[in-house]
Amino acid sequence: MNSRGWLDEKTHQVSSLLSKELDFRVTESMSRLIDQGNQEIAGQFVPSAQELEVKPNETSDPIGDDIHNPVPGITHRYSDRVLLNISHACAVYCRFCLRKEKVSKPGHSLNTSETDKALDYIASHTSIKEVIFSGGDPFILSPRLIRSILARLDCIEHVKLVRFHTRVPTVDPGRVTPQLIDVLTSTTKAVRVVTHINTVKEISESSEEVLKKFINSGVPVLSQSVILKGINNSLDALLNLFWKLIEMRVTPYYLHYLDLARGTSHFRVPLEQVIEWHHQLRGKIPGYGIPELMVDIPGGLGKIAINSENAKQTGGKWHFRSPIHPDKWITIDYQCK
Ligand SMILES: *Cc1c(COP(=O)(O)O)cnc(C)c1O
Ligand code: SF4
Repeated sequence: MNSRGWLDEKTHQVSSLLSKELDFRVTESMSRLIDQGNQEIAGQFVPSAQELEVKPNETSDPIGDDIHNPVPGITHRYSDRVLLNISHACAVYCRFCLRKEKVSKPGHSLNTSETDKALDYIASHTSIKEVIFSGGDPFILSPRLIRSILARLDCIEHVKLVRFHTRVPTVDPGRVTPQLIDVLTSTTKAVRVVTHINTVKEISESSEEVLKKFINSGVPVLSQSVILKGINNSLDALLNLFWKLIEMRVTPYYLHYLDLARGTSHFRVPLEQVIEWHHQLRGKIPGYGIPELMVDIPGGLGKIAINSENAKQTGGKWHFRSPIHPDKWITIDYQCK
């Protein structure tokens, strides 16, 4: 068996069946980790026959992007911010992707005139203060294309913030070139990077280097993670990840509960279990190391932060649960007058 045995056997049987839904793609750095037997990496990227099992509640548009889609490439759900999806290509394809029906399809990339229309839309809606380059992975685009779009955003006065949602810093750190850093620091808008990281195992020395490069160049880095069975579904896995992130000065922003994308139920962890881990993080890591636990309500109704089950009100009194002694509830009567 050659060193890429997992590519030939496992992947081949199912990837042709699955390619209609989501292509198979990993980077050199991720495939090296898979070669080393890293199950937490393989589980995220190697196709599995379990994806063929689609539950009745799973859909191709799990968070209702399509109903907030005024022009191609723009998702406008909240008045102050829009998602801008120039391309739906990524460096890797995550088997649990919420946009799995769109990513990896060339037909979903914007051509020049569609890009113009998307930018016109932003220019003509003065409520839009933030433009979020999203997935697909914007760092797949050439620095030159990113520069030209940022230059056009620079001319739109009501846009103050620009955000990049990306997985590139961990899965393909080589794409973070000095040119890219230069592009991000040359705009007049406040730029942030939100990187998608699910386990410490994804963080190589080179990814640490590139995350440091962003931060040292004045580009803050936040992170988002998805809670996934077999990948990071334990309190320890989450703690290791969030500790590592804050040691690198990356701020954990969101911990997403898995959306109802087709064929992803084998990744699902019960929400009550996630709420319990989230509650227990509080006593074990600084507050800025705890991301908000997010559920994106199906049907395009928006994202909400689920607060851990730690406060209840009965008979005019409040009951709080201790993060240090999770079984202990303390009752307080504030008596507001
Ligand atoms: C998630 C999302 C955003 C960004 O939301 P934040 O809470 O600001 O991170 C913006 N637009 C859409 C459509 C989204 O789904
Ligand atoms: S990088 Fe993001 S958009 Fe791309 S496949 Fe993974 S989860 Fe989906």
